[in-house]
Amino acid sequence: MADRILIIEDEEKIARFIELELLHEGYEAVKCSDGRTGLQQAESGDFSLVLLDIMLPELNGMEVLRRLRRSSDVPVIMLTARDAVMDKVAGLDQGADDYITKPFAIEELLARIRLVLRRRSYNSQDAGHNTPDDLLRCGELTLSESHHEVKYAGTEIELTGREFDLLNTLLINKNIVLSREQLLGKVWGYDYMGETNVVDVYIRYLRSKIDEVFGISLIQTVRGIGYVIRDEHE
Ligand code: CA
Repeated sequence: MADRILIIEDEEKIARFIELELLHEGYEAVKCSDGRTGLQQAESGDFSLVLLDIMLPELNGMEVLRRLRRSSDVPVIMLTARDAVMDKVAGLDQGADDYITKPFAIEELLARIRLVLRRRSYNSQDAGHNTPDDLLRCGELTLSESHHEVKYAGTEIELTGREFDLLNTLLINKNIVLSREQLLGKVWGYDYMGETNVVDVYIRYLRSKIDEVFGISLIQTVRGIGYVIRDEHE
């Protein structure tokens, strides 16, 4: 069954453009042009994902998100204005799953949609199989988000909050190469003034606590692209 995506965006041209691209990709799409109607639609439970603009008539996007999160955990990607760093931070704090800055390349939006939907189906599979809580795994390495616990072959690894978030993001996207910019956006939540080398620094921290200690190479560099976590034996 096709994923249904709700577009809450008052700029008709943008909404129409996104709608056509989504239909082309095989999704179903529904448009709403104000926050109030958008919230009602989003709360209906009929959607796999919501694209939410911030500047909206009736109710702004932040308020829509805040109210929506009282009753629903449907994935939300915020559409933010360029350089509105505070919007991005606030959106992620309010429970948005990702954000994209306008104007955006449609390919980037589609990639983010795929990623969020994949993460979602992974999580629900997990729940369906009744695995012990939310354990993510790569080889002998396991991470439990609810217990905030990382282990290698049963040995606990102490990580700082940021290291934990970075590892968590890599594991959610296991076998998928993520660029520094993607990691920065997902882990640090905003553009960080283009300082993507902060990602390299934290990758080094993780390697020194995991790969070097246990003599493995799970966290891999893909030259010119970014990083991926993978276990060659899986
Ligand atoms: Ca708008």
